[in-house]
Amino acid sequence: MLYANVFDIKKFSIYDGPGIRTTIFFKGCSLNCKWCQNPEGHSAKIELYYDKNKCINCNSCLTVCSIGKINKSISSRFSNEIKCLNDCSKCYDVCPSGAIYEIGKCYEVDELVRITLEDLEFYKTSVGGVTLSGGEPLLQIDFIEKFLKKLKKYKVNTIIETAGFVEWDNFYKIINYTDIFYFDLKILNKYEHISYTGQSNELILNNLLKLSREKSEVVIRIPLIPEITDTDENLINIIDFIKNNKLGKYDIELLPYNELAKEKYKKVGINCKSINKYFDRKMKAQTREILLERKKLFIKKGLKVRILSLE
Ligand code: SF4
Ligand code: SF4
Repeated sequence: MLYANVFDIKKFSIYDGPGIRTTIFFKGCSLNCKWCQNPEGHSAKIELYYDKNKCINCNSCLTVCSIGKINKSISSRFSNEIKCLNDCSKCYDVCPSGAIYEIGKCYEVDELVRITLEDLEFYKTSVGGVTLSGGEPLLQIDFIEKFLKKLKKYKVNTIIETAGFVEWDNFYKIINYTDIFYFDLKILNKYEHISYTGQSNELILNNLLKLSREKSEVVIRIPLIPEITDTDENLINIIDFIKNNKLGKYDIELLPYNELAKEKYKKVGINCKSINKYFDRKMKAQTREILLERKKLFIKKGLKVRILSLE
């Protein structure tokens, strides 16, 4: 039986494609973006998180932990340096208040199909559907292939949000069951891409070009991360790439920086390895004026662009 590890299922979502949608967030990612706004999606494993606001200071976790590294102070109970034992969840098992909680849950294909079909009538009336996000959903390709095939029996509109860093075969397997690919373009300079995401962008760019040759529906999404992806040089490079490769037929979405992700990083800290120092920096969400300036760069070149959450 096939299982997928999922860290969230968001019903009645309106920002992940047209109409009313159910968005499923798959766990595990092949990139390691320094600005990652979904740290809980990075590892493919089920992880333990800690919420100090729920801690009642009973110290049960200290008593059971075999490595003896849990602090007495509520605010720094789990330091980022803790190296947990493999598959240990003793502190989670004894925590009476839910301050230690699991991120990630395994679903079987039919179970996830049943959950998504609960809102079939809403998809029909709003011309919505189901969006697969993450993490990188295409890493769990065998599950996703089976899942999408089943959804298509009910004529559900399907979208995949991808960072594109997977083998082409993973795209090819599901191309006929996916209505739209929301494809991230982050950094055009290869060396900066390696520096900020841990991987080269060659495979990503090749996959995007192959998708365009397969006549797939694609929306190009550009996350605007201050000083990293949101620079004149990078945006102009992206525009040139789109123009030179005849990708201007696709819609483009600019994704403003979201400061709320900082809160998520405060909760990471037990056996999660994806601690992100970038959120210690004073990066601010772009103002409306700056976003409109960014949009103008694309419009000047005749591209169809919108700013997500602003319009
Ligand atoms: S998961 Fe980590 S912190 Fe919790 S009891 Fe096990 S080793 Fe200790
Ligand atoms: S077991 Fe839970 S409630 Fe008790 S001290 Fe540890 S984290 Fe806090």
